[in-house]
Amino acid sequence: MVMRTVPVAALVLAVAACAPGADPSPIGTTGDGSIPANQSISLDDSGHAALANLDPALLAAVRAAAADAAARGVELKVTSGWRSREYQQRLLDEAVARYRSEEEARKLVHPPDRSRHVTGQAIDIGPTAAADWLVQHGADYGLCQAYANEMWHFELLTTPGGPCPQPQDSANG
Ligand SMILES: [Zn+2]
Repeated sequence: MVMRTVPVAALVLAVAACAPGADPSPIGTTGDGSIPANQSISLDDSGHAALANLDPALLAAVRAAAADAAARGVELKVTSGWRSREYQQRLLDEAVARYRSEEEARKLVHPPDRSRHVTGQAIDIGPTAAADWLVQHGADYGLCQAYANEMWHFELLTTPGGPCPQPQDSANG
């Protein structure tokens, strides 16, 4: 496996998701939107639930950005998109187990009622170079980094070319 530089928080979650007992299903075959830790899918993988259930406007914006990024040698991959409520709860449960603290876990994983992944309004982009490109250029497509501690998580938060709101400190979320 090729290791790449990712924020510590992502590594911690990745480790949690890879714990013994976890049984990641092959990409493209699950209906809950799950993408195994340290893996990603292509924006062309329309049949995957993570993309099929995404807000069409969000998907279109990310695909437009990806085309421009590709022209500059940067490949945008999807590490998470739409998630079922059950999958979101599972991610939270895993984070709580990892941190032994619901409060700490919620700084990184929202409960299903609050997650914009569950409503199809959020997408996580990797690898780090791709997320960094989108942090810099996403506003051209209406895409903004929503949380200060998640440079990979994007939502449609502005009109194309408009200013992005300041990323939220998710410590309260
Ligand atoms: Zn996210």
